[in-house]
Amino acid sequence: MLDADVLEQMQYDVKYLASDRLEGREAGTPGEKLAADYIAAKFGNSGLMPYGDSTTYLQAFTFQAEPVLGPDQFLQIGRSTLKLDEAYAVLPFSATGSARGKLMKAGYGIQAPDLDMDNYKDLDPKGKIVALSISSPDGVHPHSKYLAYHDLKARAEKAAELGAIAVVFYNDDPTAEEPAFDMSPKVKSCTIPVVFMIGDARSELLLENNPVVLRTDIQRTERTAFNVVGMLDNGKDNVVVIGAHFDHLGYGDEGSLHRGDPEIHNGADDNASGVAVLLQLTRDLLEMDEARQNDYLFIAFTGEEKGLYGSNYWTKHPTVPIADLNYMINLDMVGRLDSTGAIGINGVGTSPAWNAVDHILVGDLKVKTTTSGIGPSDHTSFYLQDVPAIHFFTGTHADYHKPSDDEEKINYDGMLRVTRYIESLILELGDEGKLPFTKTEEVNTENTPRFKVTLGVVPDYLYDGKGMRIDGITEGKPAANADLKVGDIVVKLGDVEVPDMMGYMKALSAFEKGATAPIVVLRDGKEFSTSVTF
Ligand SMILES: [Zn+2]
Repeated sequence: MLDADVLEQMQYDVKYLASDRLEGREAGTPGEKLAADYIAAKFGNSGLMPYGDSTTYLQAFTFQAEPVLGPDQFLQIGRSTLKLDEAYAVLPFSATGSARGKLMKAGYGIQAPDLDMDNYKDLDPKGKIVALSISSPDGVHPHSKYLAYHDLKARAEKAAELGAIAVVFYNDDPTAEEPAFDMSPKVKSCTIPVVFMIGDARSELLLENNPVVLRTDIQRTERTAFNVVGMLDNGKDNVVVIGAHFDHLGYGDEGSLHRGDPEIHNGADDNASGVAVLLQLTRDLLEMDEARQNDYLFIAFTGEEKGLYGSNYWTKHPTVPIADLNYMINLDMVGRLDSTGAIGINGVGTSPAWNAVDHILVGDLKVKTTTSGIGPSDHTSFYLQDVPAIHFFTGTHADYHKPSDDEEKINYDGMLRVTRYIESLILELGDEGKLPFTKTEEVNTENTPRFKVTLGVVPDYLYDGKGMRIDGITEGKPAANADLKVGDIVVKLGDVEVPDMMGYMKALSAFEKGATAPIVVLRDGKEFSTSVTF
């Protein structure tokens, strides 16, 4: 194709994908489906074979949507009907349900046999609505003796286990922070309704035996998202995967840096640009006789922004055997090449063959590499399956994850140069057969200010059961040193139960560097206890 035609075609693709009509392409929304259908049609035009579900281009899967408060909320204590968000809040881990019964105060709701402490001593919470203080006998701070019992969800579960039908938390400790009310798919539901009394109405309402009626309604729904998968089949044994995510942040999903009223996040650079380059590669590789040493599997991933959902799903449900994969090239944000021509190539430590990136002159790019196979994009999912994988990236900018990441700011000439560079790289690697895979030194993936320590694992964000499932382990880090394995599910860390992803992060935040803690994992369905040193 002539360069001028390529530029025009790429602009056409970015303009459509980043148009308001697609409403920011959030996974599980109609805008995402429009984008998936568009890409599938383009795959068809290029003559790719459908490699999704049952001979279509689409590979569907479901995930937990952001939970939302439903309309059916009610709380009456004694003769007072309380107003949601003013007098009380439904906690994010509350079940959807209803309860009618008498109130029973049970202190902090802590049963700590190791500390000789039992708030339920001489109480029978069966059939009762239990009122609990969110504090603890020695307050809420990291050095509390009762740290392992602070978690409110665990206290609500304990109350439920003892027969309580609902829990009303209140705060009578001026030093204790209010619990978080934000809904998140990372928080799993407990078995009974749980609310929190805002302010200090508790003293007149939360009286022993006061009658209570409550209903809580949290809508936890599943949504369907679609990867788009097509094969350029040259009848060869090795399959090269070329991937780019096409989803983005909708009107401002988790991860948006926009503050204020919801606005469409068009995601022109992130990642309509990568998809446009991928679509160009579908056309070019078909015409390049010299590139027939491999089959080429093109995957437009969904749900990357929510935590690599689409690439995670494909690598767990591959439509080509993982063993046949040669290497993977990921395009994520390649639309902002600046005047210096600098491009980041991440993951070059995943195979010695990636040394080739240093001496390719086509495209006149200034290559800056990093070695780690683990990064915040879809190549990570392939690295975790021992596939050499790299990520092309023209760099971050002020519009990153904001509504202003728009089409006018895209550098199409830069995208063309990246396209030509990748084609040259593919040709250069063509005669090498299957690339050898190497594990890389990792950077800290849980590297946020909240954590002083790391376990050195990649969590499986798509995992939906109890605990935190390990998808990848970093050599030389605490989890590896403790002989934890990929597939292990962390259910307890220190003294703290890990009910879900959020619970894992909470448990981790309690440790200092150098500390040793017991850890319990589920391995092949059986509990396995060991200890981990941070
Ligand atoms: Zn992206």
